[in-house]
Amino acid sequence: MIKINNVSKNFGTLEVLKNISLTVNAGEVVVIIGPSGSGKSTLLRTINGLEEINSGMVTVDGINVHESKDSLYQVRQLTGMVFQQFNLFNHKNVLNNISMGPIHVQGKKKEEAEVIAAQLLKKVGLPEKSAAYPSRLSGGQQQRVAIARALAMHPKVMLFDEPTSALDPEMIAEVLEVMKGLAQDGMTMVVVTHEMGFAREVANRVIFMDDGKILEEADPKEFFAHPKNDRAKQFLSKVL
Ligand code: ADP
Ligand code: MG
Repeated sequence: MIKINNVSKNFGTLEVLKNISLTVNAGEVVVIIGPSGSGKSTLLRTINGLEEINSGMVTVDGINVHESKDSLYQVRQLTGMVFQQFNLFNHKNVLNNISMGPIHVQGKKKEEAEVIAAQLLKKVGLPEKSAAYPSRLSGGQQQRVAIARALAMHPKVMLFDEPTSALDPEMIAEVLEVMKGLAQDGMTMVVVTHEMGFAREVANRVIFMDDGKILEEADPKEFFAHPKNDRAKQFLSKVL
């Protein structure tokens, strides 16, 4: 579903991604971990073309992401992204936040889009919040709405960039639970997170990044029990 081939990326003279290759199969959940500044967000953002690349190639569902405006547009239709900051539209209620993409981008009828939005709200455990404005919701609820909004576009791939990092501890579990449900439904997911429990339990593969490189790629059980790379060992000793 996702192929990253020998991708390098600079910001000015800073080399942020150094010849990265990674394949994610349909239905797979890949968790990316690593220290701050190691290039995790940048790598994730190359997948849906939020970042240009300097060399290499990224394809999503066979489409070359960085080939043209048209390919970029197609890939954006296929990928949903959830950020640390929920990025909801604060002047729109929850139902409108979720239905606006299908209406304005996909040309769905308002009624149809709102039926789907209501179903998705149920799926993320917030059936009673359709008329609420984001400011009235907790962080965990806002993030679940953000996930529903991404799902409303029927993506084939979901990208998560530290979706629980801005949340109070008691709200982290409710968001991870929704993500786990998505994984069980067979969604292809790439997740940057510091939630090692989620990685261990839900991921099919864990990727450890440091300094713009993938230093280890492993089965989560194996990785957490016996990390091979020294920097991965060091990192785990600090976060576990
Ligand atoms: P991570 O998500 O692992 O913390 P990032 O991908 O955000 O890492 O950043 C990797 C490196 O690229 C860091 O050194 C960061 O400062 C730098 N960087 C990220 N975005 C930009 C940008 N838009 N312009 C310049 N440097 C950037
Ligand atoms: Mg980041």
